[in-house]
Amino acid sequence: MTSKSERHETKSQEKWHGPGGLGFATRAIHHGFDRREFSDAGQPPVFLTSTYGFESVEANEAAAALGGKLYGREHNPTTEILEARLANLEGAEAGLVVASGMAAFGALTLSLLSQGDELIVHKTLYVNTVTMVEQGLPRFGIKVVPVDLSNPANLDAAITERTRLVYFETPVNPLSAILDIAAIAERAHARGVKVAVDSTFASPAVQRPIEHGADIVLHSLTKYINGHGDTLGGALLGNAETLHTLHETGLRYITGAAISPLSSFLILRGLKTLTLRMERHSLSALTVARALEVHPAVAWVSYPFLESHPGHAIARKQMSNGSGMLAFGLHAGYEGARSMMNRLGLITRAVSLGDADSLICHPASLIRARQPIRKDAHLVEGVGDDLIRLSVGLEDAEDIIADLRQALEEL
Ligand SMILES: *Cc1c(COP(=O)(O)O)cnc(C)c1O
Repeated sequence: MTSKSERHETKSQEKWHGPGGLGFATRAIHHGFDRREFSDAGQPPVFLTSTYGFESVEANEAAAALGGKLYGREHNPTTEILEARLANLEGAEAGLVVASGMAAFGALTLSLLSQGDELIVHKTLYVNTVTMVEQGLPRFGIKVVPVDLSNPANLDAAITERTRLVYFETPVNPLSAILDIAAIAERAHARGVKVAVDSTFASPAVQRPIEHGADIVLHSLTKYINGHGDTLGGALLGNAETLHTLHETGLRYITGAAISPLSSFLILRGLKTLTLRMERHSLSALTVARALEVHPAVAWVSYPFLESHPGHAIARKQMSNGSGMLAFGLHAGYEGARSMMNRLGLITRAVSLGDADSLICHPASLIRARQPIRKDAHLVEGVGDDLIRLSVGLEDAEDIIADLRQALEEL
């Protein structure tokens, strides 16, 4: 992984590396792809193969012994370009790309934690991560300890000698609350505990947790990094040793959740415009957040780069921009959210986020709909039944605001 990306640094590329190295946008377009290795193709080829042939039995044995290319679950050239590029963008030594964000969380926890170990999580998490930590991990004897990490000092009492990992999102899905990566990492490291951050809501164009002390970064590539709503993917980024374990254990035989090389190709294509997209998502989301904040029907708005956000100062410290995610509630509460949602014309009513298209969802309605089939379905801690989550897309901000305004009339 690291060695691979180093091998890609050819002489002619090196001369462009000034003292500060290449900029983020340049690396998002070029890093890790040497076209001379691929018939001078302008874009990375999609390697649709499940296995690799060998010159001889000895070469086959050498590949098996040295972790060379043997089989498509563990190795794919298209995916390896994406891994090298994402690791570079996050400032990590190595990366692993898998089939979805949840596949990444499964590979992470089931590779690094064992029976009797303890995992500390922030009390609010992405809804399926909550199900995994409440119902999945305890079945394997892993104890999960939810803590309110908005006060990092709460970690001190929660860490025991069995604690192996602290895991949280920032911004937190779905409220866009902000947690202080540096403060949490400092307290965890003081007790010898590693920190993993789900940075899906920000993307590396806006926030790079490793620069603030995190050990591992998780992404749902389905969201901003791909950015076009046309594939699923997940990634883990961190040091070479940990990533080797995640690859050789988590992907190879625990989850087996390999990504399709075609998805890796699409995500590499999406990455090329990540920098531009995040600037526009952020600018439009701030504009939308400000418009909602002064609307008489709106009770509250949560957006990290609004001055009214409780985590505003921390957000300014660890994020270069506000990203495109915001949450809000209406004075008309749960019923108001439902009728507003039904009146929208441009913004798509859908789960997921980070697409070019604006997407909106109302978690409380989804939970109520699910309860007849899953009795234990419940709103995640810290999420009210009035909360509406909006992923501000790349349409003209005025059109997004106009759609919201007409839907809020008479509320
Ligand atoms: C969507 C999401 C995930 C899960 O990713 P998938 O690609 O849908 O499996 C994990 N964390 C956060 C914060 C998410 O928004």
